[in-house]
Amino acid sequence: MSGGENGDRLCGRIVGISGSVVRAVTTSPLFVGEVVRIGEERLVGEVIALEGESATAQVYEETTGLAAGDPVFATGSPLTVELGPGLLGFVFDGLARPLEALAAADGDFVKRGRSLPALARDRVWAFEPRAAAGATVSPGAILGVVPETRAIEHRILVPPGIAGRLVEIAGAGPRRVADPVARVETATGTVALPLFQRWRVRTPRPFAERLPLSVPLLTGQRVLDTFFPLPRGGTAGMPGGFGTGKTITQQQLCKWARADVIVFVGCGERGNEMAHVLRELPELADPRTGWTLSERTVLLANTSNMPVAAREASLYTAVTIAEYYRDMGYHVAVLADSTSRWAEALREISGRLEEMPAEEGYPAYLATRLAAFYERAGRVRALSGAEGSVSLVSAISPPGGDLTEPVTRHTRRFTRCFWSLDERRAQARVFPAIGLEESYGDFSAEIRSWWEGETFPQWGRLRGEAMALLEEAARLERTARLVGSESLPERERFLLRIGGLFQEAYLVQSAFERKDASCSPARQAKLLALLLRVRDLGLEAIERGVSARDIAAMAILSRVERAKEEIGDDEIERFGELETGLEAAFSGLIAAAESVHGEAG
Ligand code: ADP
Repeated sequence: MSGGENGDRLCGRIVGISGSVVRAVTTSPLFVGEVVRIGEERLVGEVIALEGESATAQVYEETTGLAAGDPVFATGSPLTVELGPGLLGFVFDGLARPLEALAAADGDFVKRGRSLPALARDRVWAFEPRAAAGATVSPGAILGVVPETRAIEHRILVPPGIAGRLVEIAGAGPRRVADPVARVETATGTVALPLFQRWRVRTPRPFAERLPLSVPLLTGQRVLDTFFPLPRGGTAGMPGGFGTGKTITQQQLCKWARADVIVFVGCGERGNEMAHVLRELPELADPRTGWTLSERTVLLANTSNMPVAAREASLYTAVTIAEYYRDMGYHVAVLADSTSRWAEALREISGRLEEMPAEEGYPAYLATRLAAFYERAGRVRALSGAEGSVSLVSAISPPGGDLTEPVTRHTRRFTRCFWSLDERRAQARVFPAIGLEESYGDFSAEIRSWWEGETFPQWGRLRGEAMALLEEAARLERTARLVGSESLPERERFLLRIGGLFQEAYLVQSAFERKDASCSPARQAKLLALLLRVRDLGLEAIERGVSARDIAAMAILSRVERAKEEIGDDEIERFGELETGLEAAFSGLIAAAESVHGEAG
């Protein structure tokens, strides 16, 4: 976070304070979005409204002790974030102030007005140039690299807005973030470029072009990848009540989603829960690299004791950091937990401003603010020419599980995927508890062609058939509850049973099961085909006189049910054996039934 710490100029005096909102009478012009420093302690604030000589600012720190008459200083700069090596593996607040460094400097309570830079100035990075003096460079060009962690190579890019001749580039060697490593002769003079750049958090970073959302962001979670797929660069809302698996699902996404970098922004669900996430998430083993997730994760935390205004800014800070790694050519996933708490901050600030509330006390601009976040997702060709993406997944906590409340409703307008965690499924311990009826995913022709081209030519058809099967089983279950399953015809009794098998063998996927915590697309394909084969063989057997009960009693079906845990991603040839076994078992049943019928006839 920054806002021109040097050169601040006195621009007015406080006339009123309401919580985190301060009003001032100004003596020189300010702009909306300008960072101001407030009071003698120089607390960080941002101008949110201007009217004549009156300015309103939201303050990102505790405002107790401020009084009318205290000075307000203009910085001339909007809210920005520092982008450079030293983000991965660290924890920041909503304005990207480094929490650990602040705590070390001030003890447990962050001192007000303290503005430590996001990136530690004393850390030394092993810089290696990737450009030569004399070259013509433009925004996005790679000047050099730094091994930020063992998992991620940090590419030092020419910032947006700077182009010209590279007159000097540092050689390989140890550098600190603020050390100049390159000098570029531009049309307006020579600029020295350090290892980091700044960017305005509320402005999307530029890129060369948008690319179609045609590649799935595989999550390894079957119910998501098969039924409600999220593309790279796509957006998903994930509403769920307490205990429905929001935390575990997010952890699964961090571990298994095919993203290079994860930006996790926690919005103070409950104070101690946030502490738990902060401690646990970075320490999770990273199956991709063999190290821990911290090596490719940036954490932003707003605990409930932090001022609400910082929480409001945090989503934009997170997405700005994500765009920066995207610009290096990485696929980045932002997980926000939860946008409901974020929206509460918006509501609180709006209340302080005495704005006319819209639905349920939220300001009328709730929807535009949510849109401003989600529209920054995308798969792009970056200025460097590399492909990168930012995917956004946000957890939502709708009060009372009401999916029509404003935050959930507006989120649905802006997200292409909706993963609704269902309380009844969670109670029945069907995890991941994604509700099949309320959820939706991206079934675009592009996603379908990815699957069908890469791994599974019948993907579209089989997932459609599986969905139809599940819908029919759900319908039959409702009927059976009314009339008893005995009164259903054999065919329907079988379909009811197969629906149950599909749930157990495909949809249920334990995060704690070694071979099944994640499922490759190839294994998903095999499992899906296997289960639909069971359906086909069973329907044929029923036609030929086999009873639904005899099918239900087949020993091999329990092997089918356990296949997901027994056959790992690297053993999928074993599905062949299972299919041969199934065919033999069904032939046996049919032969037995036909001989009984034959004798009877
Ligand atoms: P929330 O964050 O929504 O309150 P959690 O993510 O803590 O819920 O999940 C609650 C419990 O549900 C977990 O402790 C775990 O036992 C179970 N659970 C949730 N998701 C899964 C999963 N994918 N695999 C296995 N168990 C799960």
